[in-house]
Amino acid sequence: MITFRNVHKYFGQFHVLKDIHLQIESGEVVVVIGPSGSGKSTLLRCMNRLESISEGELTVNDVELHAKGTDINQVRQEIGMVFQHFNLYPHMKVIDNITLAPMKVRGVSAKEAKETAMLYLEKVGIPEKADSFPSQLSGGQQQRVAIARGLAMKPKIMLFDEPTSALDPEVIGEVLDVMKTLTREGMTMVVVTHEMGFAKEVANRVIFMDEGRIVEQAKPDAFFARPEEERARLFLSRLL
Ligand code: ADP
Ligand code: MG
Repeated sequence: MITFRNVHKYFGQFHVLKDIHLQIESGEVVVVIGPSGSGKSTLLRCMNRLESISEGELTVNDVELHAKGTDINQVRQEIGMVFQHFNLYPHMKVIDNITLAPMKVRGVSAKEAKETAMLYLEKVGIPEKADSFPSQLSGGQQQRVAIARGLAMKPKIMLFDEPTSALDPEVIGEVLDVMKTLTREGMTMVVVTHEMGFAKEVANRVIFMDEGRIVEQAKPDAFFARPEEERARLFLSRLL
C-alpha cells in the first residue's frame, strides 16, 4: 500500500531522510519509534505529501506521489492524519469539524455528512459532544474528535503522529483504545508513538529510526525482547 524506494529528503543542506526503503501492506499496523529529531514526522508527512521527497520513489495506493499529473488532493482523500495537537478548527462545533471535509472535498450532502459524522462520534464514544466546541472538551476527547474527523473521509490509510504525546496521562488510554479498535477492523495504520504497550499489543511491525535512517525493522516480540541494534537498545533502555 505504501512503498518507499531509495528515498532521500533534504531540508536545504540538511539530510533528514537517508535511503529509506519501506513497504507497508494493506491492513498492516506499523509503529515508528526513535529519538526526537530522527525524522519520524518527516517520514509520515511524506506519505501524504505534506513534505516532498528529494530523491527516490514513493508510491501510496498505487499512485506515484511525485509523478507529474498526480492529483494530490485525490491521494490525500484516501489518507487520514492525526497530529499531536489535534488541529481542530476552534471556531467550529465538533460536528462541523467532522462534516467539513466530506462536504467540501468529497461533495457529500450535508445530511449524509452529518449522519456519517454521528456514526464516527459514536465509534469514538462521544456522540453527546456533537454540538460542543473543541475548547469545551478534554484533550482526550479532542483527539477522539480528530480521529473521527479523519475516519469520516473513509480513508484507506490512517497516519498518527504522536497522537497521545500532548495528553494528560489519565486520558491517553481512551485514545489508544479507539486506535486499537481500528486495528482490529483492519485499517492500515502508521503510528509514531512512544507508547510501547500499544506497539507490543497491536503492531505488526516496529520500525526504529535514528538520524534519518531506518536502523531496524522487526516484529514487536523480537524487537522488544532483544533489539539487534545497539542504538535501539539504548533508546529502549532510556524509555524505561
Ligand atoms: P522527529 O519527528 O523524529 O522528532 P522530524 O521529522 O520532526 O523528527 O525532524 C527531523 C529533523 O528535521 C530535525 O532535525 C528537525 O529539526 C528537522 N526539520 C523538520 N522539519 C523541518 C523543516 N521544515 N525545515 C528544516 N528542518 C526541519
Ligand atoms: Mg515528530
